[in-house]
Amino acid sequence: MTPQSSPLPKVLAIDDSELIHRLLRVRLQHEQIELHGSMVAVRGLEMARELQPDVILLDIEMEGMDGFEVLQALKSDVDLQDIPVIFISATASMEDRVRALDLGAVDFVAKPFEVVELKARVRSALRVQHLVKMLAQKAQVDGLTGLWNRTYFDRRLSQEVSESIRHRRPLTLVMCDVDGFKKLNDERGHPFGDMVLERLAKILQSGRGSDIPCRYGGEEFGIILPNTSGSEALEVADRYRRAIEQETWPSAVGKVITASFGIADISVLPGTQGVDDLIAAADSALYKAKLNGRNRVEAANINQSTG
Ligand SMILES: [Mg+2]
Repeated sequence: MTPQSSPLPKVLAIDDSELIHRLLRVRLQHEQIELHGSMVAVRGLEMARELQPDVILLDIEMEGMDGFEVLQALKSDVDLQDIPVIFISATASMEDRVRALDLGAVDFVAKPFEVVELKARVRSALRVQHLVKMLAQKAQVDGLTGLWNRTYFDRRLSQEVSESIRHRRPLTLVMCDVDGFKKLNDERGHPFGDMVLERLAKILQSGRGSDIPCRYGGEEFGIILPNTSGSEALEVADRYRRAIEQETWPSAVGKVITASFGIADISVLPGTQGVDDLIAAADSALYKAKLNGRNRVEAANINQSTG
């Protein structure tokens, strides 16, 4: 859940001049960075994928694939498009500078460059990159509960579904919904409702370390359980259910708040299942839990026709 503290930032230099690499190695050796380099554009792109550098220094004039083409390749790759690129060029015409910036480069340094200036520009790009990373992480966390949000849930579940199918590993999805939440909000006010959601999030976070609880939306939570069969998930969900039922509420003594759970185990669903099928199955199990009296756990009934 917590942001990983990063080691030294990585800088990747792609330039066909041996001299430039030597210069960078010598002049950047005392900077708090990890310097990598390639003299071949295509290899540089491979290294970018392997290393996920924090900044790329990119030469424009190179044999074969030039800097503009490398930049385009970087910008069209979702895993690489956010890495800031600083262009370095010997023939820095105004036209080249404008084109580089238009293509998404963050900065432009003319050769021969002052190392002091280059260092300052690298530091500046690293600061920006750090903020971008923080914002990207923040964009995946739910503000109220601190759980992963829907955006993260969707992405992670589709990853886990692919992994599960590829490696034939168990995967179970649990959907959880607070019972009578609307009534609770009406009776006790929204601040109380918010507190309930926060407490529930804490309970869901206090489970097994491998469970991935997310806020799916409103009062609904989605918990991804990698490497977990449906029968194990039944026990896990029931522990959560009991913990919620037993929670005491400071401003509402004696109040019992409950939640219902629906479970879908990917391995018992017929055929090759996608993310949407898994969510739909867990949702219909959740619906069944509501129909059968709430405060209970139901598993998707695979024999039941959905037609
Ligand atoms: Mg060159």
